Amino acid sequence: MFPDAFDYERATSVGEALDLLDDHADAEVEILAGGHSLVPAMKTEGRSPDVVVDLDVAALDAINALDDRTVVGALTTYADIADSRAARANAPLLAETAAEVGDLQIRNRGTIGGNLAEAHPGADPPAAVLASDATVLLRHRDGKREVPATDFFRGDGETAVEYGELVTGVRVPHTGDAGVAYAKKTHPATGYAMVGVAAVVETDVVDGNGDETAEGTVSSVRVAATGAVDRAVRLPSVENALVGERLDSDAIDAAAGEAQADVEPDRLRSDPYASGDFRRELLETYVARALESAAERVAGDPPTA
Ligand SMILES: Cc1cc2nc3c(=O)[nH]c(=O)nc-3n(C[C@H](O)[C@H](O)[C@H](O)COP(=O)(O)OP(=O)(O)OC[C@H]3O[C@@H](n4cnc5c(N)ncnc54)[C@H](O)[C@@H]3O)c2cc1C
Repeated sequence: MFPDAFDYERATSVGEALDLLDDHADAEVEILAGGHSLVPAMKTEGRSPDVVVDLDVAALDAINALDDRTVVGALTTYADIADSRAARANAPLLAETAAEVGDLQIRNRGTIGGNLAEAHPGADPPAAVLASDATVLLRHRDGKREVPATDFFRGDGETAVEYGELVTGVRVPHTGDAGVAYAKKTHPATGYAMVGVAAVVETDVVDGNGDETAEGTVSSVRVAATGAVDRAVRLPSVENALVGERLDSDAIDAAAGEAQADVEPDRLRSDPYASGDFRRELLETYVARALESAAERVAGDPPTA
């Protein structure tokens, strides 16, 4: 199908893009980043913007590793994140997850900013961004806003982005010696996650008094899921069940068993490929898989993206 007619504008700087959004404040405007959600939606799903602003801003296509955090520009493709030595060393969960998105064509064109802004409920990066405790960076004409990932995803296609704002990037704290992993049940037709789980696990070898304690006691854990409900979510019941426990299979299985408590039944996704009940079952399995992989990697080598 052909999309409806629209006006095309090109922005080569963030300022230009924000001016264009302001100029067209009375119109329906879409940003063209990688185009891998927008263009299919315009051709087949009836999305019909009056104006498309093509974001062609080199400054947003960059990965900057700083002392304790990596900032990934909104126009960075999944392929570039997955291949980036800096991202693999410092933000390995995002790099591993980026390598799991769709297929090579999608990874070569789709962007992290477009993915987060689209907020597809089966998208992979939102789980990694949540489990990484990342912050989404926004710009508008009057300034900047930083939104913690936990406040960013509101529902299917719904985010904290307000009209006139651009996602400019995502700031990912470094995970250091934590074990990280992303485990995904891939939708057979699209490549999206039927269920995807991202995990970051840290263990302590000394307690708060500086005394030796059992190696492998979980000091902090973040687990986030995509695909199960209408948006990516953290799984606090799983996290709470694991903190303070020895990081072994029994503790992981027990914690994974808590996953269903974090799923709001009325927000479960259901489609011809997977019912809500099946997704809920998958969630427990993939939480356990992500945690097992993360446990193997604690203080070890980062995953190869
Ligand atoms: C066949 C197929 C398979 C796919 N499989 C997967 C998968 O396995 N996992 C996965 O995660 N995704 C998958 N995707 C989606 C893909 O990752 C898209 O690239 C992504 O959802 C959108 O990123 P984009 O850069 O292409 O954005 P675009 O399509 O250009 O834009 C998407 C939306 O975001 C808005 N937008 C874009 N950039 C910004 C910005 N900087 N600031 C504010 N708003 C912005 C646009 O206005 C638009 O509404 C798949 C897509 C297809 C077509």
